[in-house]
Amino acid sequence: MPDSDSPESFDVVIVGAGFSGMYLVERCRSLGFSCVVLEQGSDVGGTWYWNRYPGARCDIPTIEYSYSFDPDLEQEWDWSELMGAQPEILTYANHVADRFDLRRDMRFDTRVSAASFDETANRWTVTTTKGDRFEAPHLILATGCLSKPNWPAIEGRESYQGKILHTALWPHEPVTFHGERVGIIGTGSSAIQSIPEIAETAEHLHVFQRTPNYTMPAENHPLTDEFRNEIKANYAEMRDLQRHSLAGMARYGVMGRIQEVGEEKIVEVDEEERRRRLAEDGLPSLRRYADVGIDLEANELACDIYREYVAGVVDDETTADALMPRDYPLGCKRQVVDIDYYETFNRDNVSIVDLRIDPIAEITPRGIRTESADYEFDVLIYATGFDAMTGAINDIEITGRDGRLLRDEWSAGPRTYLGLQSAGFPNLFMITGPGSPSVLSNMMVSIEQHCEWVTDCMAYLRDRNYRAIEATMPAQDGWVEHVNAVANGTMLTVESCNSWYLGANVPGKPRVFMPYVGGVGNYRKRCDAVAAADYEGFALS
Ligand code: FAD
Ligand code: NAP
Repeated sequence: MPDSDSPESFDVVIVGAGFSGMYLVERCRSLGFSCVVLEQGSDVGGTWYWNRYPGARCDIPTIEYSYSFDPDLEQEWDWSELMGAQPEILTYANHVADRFDLRRDMRFDTRVSAASFDETANRWTVTTTKGDRFEAPHLILATGCLSKPNWPAIEGRESYQGKILHTALWPHEPVTFHGERVGIIGTGSSAIQSIPEIAETAEHLHVFQRTPNYTMPAENHPLTDEFRNEIKANYAEMRDLQRHSLAGMARYGVMGRIQEVGEEKIVEVDEEERRRRLAEDGLPSLRRYADVGIDLEANELACDIYREYVAGVVDDETTADALMPRDYPLGCKRQVVDIDYYETFNRDNVSIVDLRIDPIAEITPRGIRTESADYEFDVLIYATGFDAMTGAINDIEITGRDGRLLRDEWSAGPRTYLGLQSAGFPNLFMITGPGSPSVLSNMMVSIEQHCEWVTDCMAYLRDRNYRAIEATMPAQDGWVEHVNAVANGTMLTVESCNSWYLGANVPGKPRVFMPYVGGVGNYRKRCDAVAAADYEGFALS
């Protein structure tokens, strides 16, 4: 019997109970590994547990954004809309947790602060902020790519006396804005989804915008029984298409128009025809031209049409002008999709504050003071995003071999082999880590692929009496070089692009492109080939 000071022992410690951590429990159980999930929130769901702001919903068809590992689960679950809203996705997460009795292996309200590897014992010891300790040969970080909220360091932030909300830490009790003056900072996906809903009830909504975004209509709609039945009969085919696609999407029967790049170049299509296509196919037509994603001049032509579109929807000329993205290309950030975003700015109770012209000077006890005006409101909402991809990992003090700290190893940007491991940190795995397709894909597909690869790897080690696996430095260096090489030449890395993919949204964060552009299908093949070659590029001991 361990004494009360001894850490609790498992085969695997998992951090995070989002869709990644949940599936890992199921995988560990099916392969005979004991595991525990440590989660700082009070229940499962991760992203969908935390981001409860009005309007939060999937940006891809939810049918595709669902687990594929259990055919019965697929058949018994009915999605009500094409792009399910947060409450429905969280209900799905809870359903999965109940159905597979996942909470039995989970500890909630438990935040991990440190993890260190003992080379002699070949074990990770994980410590929580409450001082509890857990140990296991394997540690899996399922901590999420978009789970550390970003609070901008704006002068006077602490002085604000009204109600403060962050889209990524939204309260569990209903929040209403009836009769309230609201200010929101940010115009990324979270803001663009929530602004139309908040505007419905707020007395007045001030939108503080630093960079206007390119957003496209979500084309969301309720699903019919006929469509659901068709999908249910064809799930296997859809999953196969997803797994071998570029972005983890089959676009099975839906969204055919969005982001399907054709052969034709925008520079070869005359202006009138471009406009005709826009009128017929909407904004997604702009991303279908072959050259828009790779040639800045072609991209600028698409952006001109985009801006014309904004001018056509937004009545007030100054507001329309403020909402027009300029100086960075379409496609350099994750595509934002919206419901009636631009139309919302035609309401009398919504106004935009263009911070490019009138920057924030400070946050005051009653609101925001820009360089030329004072704005007062009852509620201040931060829709300011995340310290993405590395934030949650670097928050944990992770000590690997020879006492090296992961956050020091990553001080100039994350370095991984396949986004799965970092050299110097044996038996430490990441789910959708930097260097994998991750946030460039339908995350559910990438999550399942990683959870399966990692747990299969642990079973391989166990079955062959290996105690440790560690990415080698040459394999890691080669992979980092490859990740950079495939990203260059795309809109994702051009100098004018300041995306969170590049860490550019967090002051002081190194500017390094973090996800892998090479595609979900190619990446899966590569991971499978590595495993088939007895984990080539990893040292087994
Ligand atoms: P998460 O869901 O982020 O879960 C990680 C968990 O780890 C969190 O619950 C967190 O509390 C916990 N954790 C982190 N650090 C610690 C610690 N130190 N100790 C204890 N617990 C810790 N992706 C898509 O593909 N399509 C979409 O439409 C889409 N929509 C999104 C909408 C929003 C608002 C956001 C923020 C993201 C969206 N994403 C979307 C990305 C989304 O994050 C992933 O799809 C997916 O939910 C990630 O699951 P995960 O389990 O890997 O991470
Ligand atoms: P985000 O895209 O990073 O947007 C943050 C916004 O806050 C930006 O407009 C940013 O302006 C602004 N901001 C940050 N600091 C600021 C400051 N100091 N002053 C003024 N403005 C400031 O974050 P997000 O909207 O939460 O989205 C992040 C990602 O989460 C998305 O890209 C997507 O992957 C995922 N997501 C998906 C959905 C969905 O549709 N399913 C919804 C929400 C989120 P700048 O651009 O100028 O920095």
